[in-house]
Amino acid sequence: MAPMANAEKGAAQHLADKTVQLHGTMTQGSLLRGQVPVGTEVVLDGEPVRVNKQGKFVIGFERKAELSHRLEATFPDGTRVEKPIELAERAYNIQRIDGLDQKMVSPPESVLARIKQDNIDVAKARSQVTDLDAVFTRFQWPAKGPITGVYGSQRILNGTPKWPHYGVDVGGATGTKVTAPASGTVTLAQDLYYSGNTLIIDHGMGVFSTFLHLNAVTVKVGDKVAQGEQIGTIGATGRATGPHLDWRINWRKMRLDPQTLVSGLPQ
Ligand SMILES: [Zn+2]
Repeated sequence: MAPMANAEKGAAQHLADKTVQLHGTMTQGSLLRGQVPVGTEVVLDGEPVRVNKQGKFVIGFERKAELSHRLEATFPDGTRVEKPIELAERAYNIQRIDGLDQKMVSPPESVLARIKQDNIDVAKARSQVTDLDAVFTRFQWPAKGPITGVYGSQRILNGTPKWPHYGVDVGGATGTKVTAPASGTVTLAQDLYYSGNTLIIDHGMGVFSTFLHLNAVTVKVGDKVAQGEQIGTIGATGRATGPHLDWRINWRKMRLDPQTLVSGLPQ
């Protein structure tokens, strides 16, 4: 190669080295994936963001996240850029149901201790932040079927706002195959009061998939699963009204919309 071409390539490389790339849907509830030059420090709204050895990182925004955010990157040579992030506001489906028998609204006393322990186990299963880079791959739907429930919707029962629905539901008969949306490590495979047979997979960088109401679970804690590998089957275990897969995405303490990671419909 001629010396001139080398110099040009060097200049182009230099420009590319000062960029912050962000990929994903700029909405509330979204998980975004980013790339900066190796060795760059990234800060979101004043909080340091973990950047891996390849300069990749993830950030997420909750269901009701504020719309304006600021991402700052400090490159290895000390120069800094600020990247404003403007999210689109989402409208969630809110449903009011009154005149319900109160027993339907609150769980019985006898299961409160169990629910508390379930929550501890789930939090523990999502507590690690690993450098697995499956989170940077293209996700695929974990089951085929119609979408029967979406992220963010909420019911108000007898005037009491219930916990919003944080998953995407895919309808399907009991026994329908459930596969890993991306590769990862199983961190929980357990029967829980609300969500029945529940599976959690670590995809790296603090991002986890959770699968609720499974009939069968075909993997165990510690197993490494490949994208597309069967992990269980659709069921109606726990407090489910009928067989469906409820798939959730968590990043650190945030509950994000799985549909911001997959394209198209699960058909
Ligand atoms: Zn659901």
